[in-house]
Amino acid sequence: MTHLRPYALVTLVNEWGTRPRVEAGEQGQPFPDPGVVGLDAGADPDDLVRVADLLHPVFAAASVGERVRRLDALLVDTGLTVRLREAPTGQAYEEWEPARAVDALLVATLRTLTEVVLTRGPAAIGVCGGEECVDVWIDAPRGRPRRYCSSQCGGRVRVAAHRRRQRTEERA
Ligand SMILES: [Zn+2]
Repeated sequence: MTHLRPYALVTLVNEWGTRPRVEAGEQGQPFPDPGVVGLDAGADPDDLVRVADLLHPVFAAASVGERVRRLDALLVDTGLTVRLREAPTGQAYEEWEPARAVDALLVATLRTLTEVVLTRGPAAIGVCGGEECVDVWIDAPRGRPRRYCSSQCGGRVRVAAHRRRQRTEERA
C-alpha cells in the first residue's frame, strides 16, 4: 500500500468515517468489503475508521488556509520520510515511508490527498453542501467546481429550495 486513487480515498472517508455514517444514519450498518478501496479483505476496520476520521476534518475545513494547516499537521504527526529511488528505467521516483508500520494506510492516503491539493489546489476538495450529508468529494480533474457529493444530494437541495419558495409564495 503506497498509493490510493482519489476515488478510493473518497470512498474510504465516506464509508468508514464516523461523521458521514452518523449523518447518513448508517452507523449501525456493516462496513463494505475493504476491496472497494483496493485493500485486502483482512484490513483492520478500526484502522480504516481511524484514517477516515483523521482525514474528514481536512475536507471539512471552513477555509482553504485551515485545510492546508490541517493536512500539514497530519503529515508532521506521522513523522513520515520522503525518499528518492532510482527505477530500472533510469527514472527517479519518490517513496513515502511511514515512521510506524501501523501508519502505512494513513501515509498512503496523505500522499494521495497532498498530490490532489498541490496539483488541483486546496479548493478542489470539500464536504457535501446537502442537508443531512457530510460526505466528502474531490473535483474531477477537468470537471466543473462542485458543492455536493453526488447529483442526488444537489437535486434534493434544489427540490427543497423550490418547495420553500412555493410555500413562501402561497403565504404571500
Ligand atoms: Zn451529499
